[in-house]
Amino acid sequence: MGEVWTLAEFRHGELSSVSYELLNRGKNLSQKLDTALASVILGYDIKKEDIDELIARGADKVYVVDDKNLENFLVESYANVLIALLDEYKPDIFIAAATTTGRTLMPYVAVRKKTGLTADCTVLDIEEGTGNLLQTRPAIGGNILATIKTPNTRPQMATVRPHSMKPAIPDKNRNGEVIYKKYDESLFKTKSKYLRFIKDESQQVTVQDAKVIVAGGKGVGKEENFAIIDELAELLGGAVGASRDVVDRGWKTYPHQIGLSGKTVSPALYIAAGISGAVQHIAGMQTSENIIAINKDPDAQIFHLANLGIVGDLNEVLPLLIERIKEYKA
Ligand code: FAD
Repeated sequence: MGEVWTLAEFRHGELSSVSYELLNRGKNLSQKLDTALASVILGYDIKKEDIDELIARGADKVYVVDDKNLENFLVESYANVLIALLDEYKPDIFIAAATTTGRTLMPYVAVRKKTGLTADCTVLDIEEGTGNLLQTRPAIGGNILATIKTPNTRPQMATVRPHSMKPAIPDKNRNGEVIYKKYDESLFKTKSKYLRFIKDESQQVTVQDAKVIVAGGKGVGKEENFAIIDELAELLGGAVGASRDVVDRGWKTYPHQIGLSGKTVSPALYIAAGISGAVQHIAGMQTSENIIAINKDPDAQIFHLANLGIVGDLNEVLPLLIERIKEYKA
């Protein structure tokens, strides 16, 4: 049985936390298959601490390709290196995060390897008896969960929604094997050329990084009423989230949207005000550590998920909450 591989994302000198989420997912798979869990890290000037962290978070092995040519992400050179690694070590499963990098790189590799790839999975498991990877993802507008198998070729590849699982907890006592690989210059020849990196500063809202999210739904009533959601979010040092109905109405812009067709988030606290809890909304926030729901309908679906539910009008509840927080902060 081949190994289970996860792609660690290393960019601009930093290892992204999605790398640890993938290790948490991979652990379950490698344990069921009784095989090694490995992380692959490509980049330039990769720090030893980052490699140690991957081991602490569950990697039994780390494959490292540290090369000046990998300083900036170019899909061709990254894919060439990955294919060389896959050809040599023949893992059974290879998973990456469904980030911009993962979504660009994995299809490119899968096509060249002529192997199956399932995008945007929310659950991964192993089929008893065959050891095949079961790749579950929402389908038909989130109304069903489809479980997909790609049993005929190896590796079985999948991308996983970022923030759909918690990062693995580090254990500094773990030991792992580190395999450094060097490749010939010819592997880095690409048709495309890296010019420069321009950071998108236009989006102020970073719901995906926020520890606290205060999200408003259609129950907020109108655009002006969002002031109360904005105020609470600011008081708590958090970001403002919104349901799709709110975004469709133009009360908030798309970067605020949480859910199946928006962002997936996993904050320490998610406050849902005037949100019914449709399956497509829940798909984007169900891994939040604590959920507080405020809704005037006691039968609202969101209460099934909430740690704390307040049945009431948000226009009454939120001002009281804001007042109490201000008193507490004073
Ligand atoms: P509603 O369902 O209308 O709920 C409003 C709630 O507010 C109700 O529960 C009501 O009781 C409560 N309320 C009303 N007034 C008050 C008040 N004064 N105080 C307190 N509570 C009040 N949705 C998303 O959110 N994100 C997505 O990414 C997403 N993607 C989708 C993708 C597809 C393919 C499809 C088909 C749908 C998607 N949806 C998504 C839409 C989803 O199905 C729901 O329609 C949407 O989430 C409902 O938004 P809502 O909860 O704001 O509105």
